[in-house]
Amino acid sequence: MSSSLTSPLHPASSSSPALARRGLMLVLSSPSGAGKTTLSRRLLAEDEQITMSVSVTTRAPRSGEVEGKDYFFADIPTFEKMRDGGELLEHATVFGNYYGTPRGAVEAALSGGRDVLFDIDWQGTQQLSESASQDLVKVFILPPSAEDLEKRLRTRAQDSDEVVRARMAKASDEISHYFEYDYIIVNHEVEDSLDKLKAILHAERQKRERVTGLSRFVKQLREAL
Ligand code: 5GP
Repeated sequence: MSSSLTSPLHPASSSSPALARRGLMLVLSSPSGAGKTTLSRRLLAEDEQITMSVSVTTRAPRSGEVEGKDYFFADIPTFEKMRDGGELLEHATVFGNYYGTPRGAVEAALSGGRDVLFDIDWQGTQQLSESASQDLVKVFILPPSAEDLEKRLRTRAQDSDEVVRARMAKASDEISHYFEYDYIIVNHEVEDSLDKLKAILHAERQKRERVTGLSRFVKQLREAL
């Protein structure tokens, strides 16, 4: 999947071969309520090189969620057909509902030289690590405290008490996977966390391994010296 994932770093000229870079896959995981959705939206709004992977899920839409923007909402047979037909890059069951990443849109974005942002859990991240590890940048968002997490879940007020309790209980499990990630952001304050996320993305885009055409570029540079 990674060979054609390029975007120009600068235009080719007659004197220097083109440099380009492969698109990267930025994964954001966290327990529900840690602020990941807000961070994702802000990043997408402020960085035009990155596009969101819209997941398919069998859970019911929350109020305000838009089909095709927040999720593709599907019934169980439709999801199972997609999964069994190999249409999902990864999939997992979270809180008794199916979630998965449609393969086509991600591959199209990456081959168009765009980076892709994933809001997926640790199970999906592990699957992507197996299939696309060199393109993956994994960021885990932690809440500053248990009280803060509960407050955010209750303020969101879109889930029943029972679901909030289940999400709190699940948070500890989710957090236990923090060590599988490359970067950790403790989300005290959204602006600060967003700055950190942008810094990570900025640095990862400059990684030598992501730049294609580099050896030819350097060879030509050295020959001219
Ligand atoms: P929510 O129902 O709150 O939108 O999401 C619940 C959890 O499912 C979140 O941790 C979210 O990151 C995760 N999730 C959403 N979409 C996907 C997906 O496509 N794959 C996986 N593995 N997890 C997902």
